[in-house]
Amino acid sequence: MHQRIAIIGAGVSGLAAALRLTEAGKEVVVFEKSRGLSGRAATRSKEGCRYDFGANYFKVRCNEVARLIFETLPTEGLQRIVGDILTFDREGRISPPDPDHKSGARWTYRDGISALGKLMAAKGGFVVENSVRILRLRREESHWLPEDEEGRRFGRFDAVLITPPAPQTADLLAASDLPASLRDALTLDLRGAAYWSQFSVVLNFGGEIRLPGEAYALLNTDREHDLAWVSLENRKNDRIPPGQSLVVAQLSPLWTEANYDLAPDAVVAHAANCLGALLQADLPTPAWSDCQRWRYAHPRIGVPQERLKQGGSMGLYFAGDALIGRGRVDEAIRTGFAAARSILGMND
Ligand SMILES: Cc1cc2nc3c(=O)[nH]c(=O)nc-3n(C[C@H](O)[C@H](O)[C@H](O)COP(=O)(O)OP(=O)(O)OC[C@H]3O[C@@H](n4cnc5c(N)ncnc54)[C@H](O)[C@@H]3O)c2cc1C
Repeated sequence: MHQRIAIIGAGVSGLAAALRLTEAGKEVVVFEKSRGLSGRAATRSKEGCRYDFGANYFKVRCNEVARLIFETLPTEGLQRIVGDILTFDREGRISPPDPDHKSGARWTYRDGISALGKLMAAKGGFVVENSVRILRLRREESHWLPEDEEGRRFGRFDAVLITPPAPQTADLLAASDLPASLRDALTLDLRGAAYWSQFSVVLNFGGEIRLPGEAYALLNTDREHDLAWVSLENRKNDRIPPGQSLVVAQLSPLWTEANYDLAPDAVVAHAANCLGALLQADLPTPAWSDCQRWRYAHPRIGVPQERLKQGGSMGLYFAGDALIGRGRVDEAIRTGFAAARSILGMND
């Protein structure tokens, strides 16, 4: 039975698994390459504003995620986002919400969506090693020794759960001490996964900006507009100082791929122009802006799980949204819970 478990990645999937494994009495260490927690469920603070520049909200669509959000974690800062999501087409014609996007409550936290990861880590009773990028897994006897870029090792583990996007996971396995047959089996499907990239642009306006119909967000449904998503962070309480408006404008994956190396200023200018045209408004110049380029924003083609299960024979497990083939916070959490069950020897 595995007692000491390393988890690579402190996104919501890795942290959910860490929480479950710690509850079951396991010793867990999470390794995270960035300084933060929560991965693509990301929040940034700037000039008195707090905004979600990766996932903009999460849904709660199953009992085990509901128990996590409403029972296990503190609910003080939990916020239900009010306001509709309207849709628009490639011509910028705005329509009432479509039923798919109307259904179900949307959630975030007062301190930002990254509070989800932070709360799991605070609850956890496990160790998180930030600013450690694991490059390979060394093998000694029947143990795994995660090793970083500088060749530092961080102890011996009975099992490793790997949660980064599939291409990064494949690179990690390719550099690790695995029997060639197992490495080939595992990397074959991981290399077959594909992701959309996406620019997330944040525009701060000195005055008040409103979306039509007092909406919270606008979503492009035919995927042929340069903007994929526009939302007003002011619809989340206590985020934006009075008298300012903060818009998150996500460029479409197709536009992002065609303009991947464009300078951030040019990306911001394009997003602002598209926003003005969409709202049919002569918008003021933003007081400030921010631009994040997500290389692996959303899985487009996921990883079949059958072959990945072969890793269990050597104590290697996998979680993350790569396994579901689309970017959803709640579903990524479920992959973490499922991986924890496998590690604990509980079959689904
Ligand atoms: C722009 C954008 C908008 C989105 N909008 C929504 C939305 O509105 N609603 C929704 O539900 N979902 C949305 N998503 C998708 C959602 O954010 C993801 O599906 C979810 O957060 C994935 O969690 P994860 O744990 O699988 O992966 P991640 O969050 O990517 O976690 C993996 C972690 O591994 C770390 N890592 C990688 N390599 C290493 C290494 N070698 N060593 C150590 N650490 C490593 C990374 O830094 C990261 O923290 C959006 C995503 C993006 C980018």
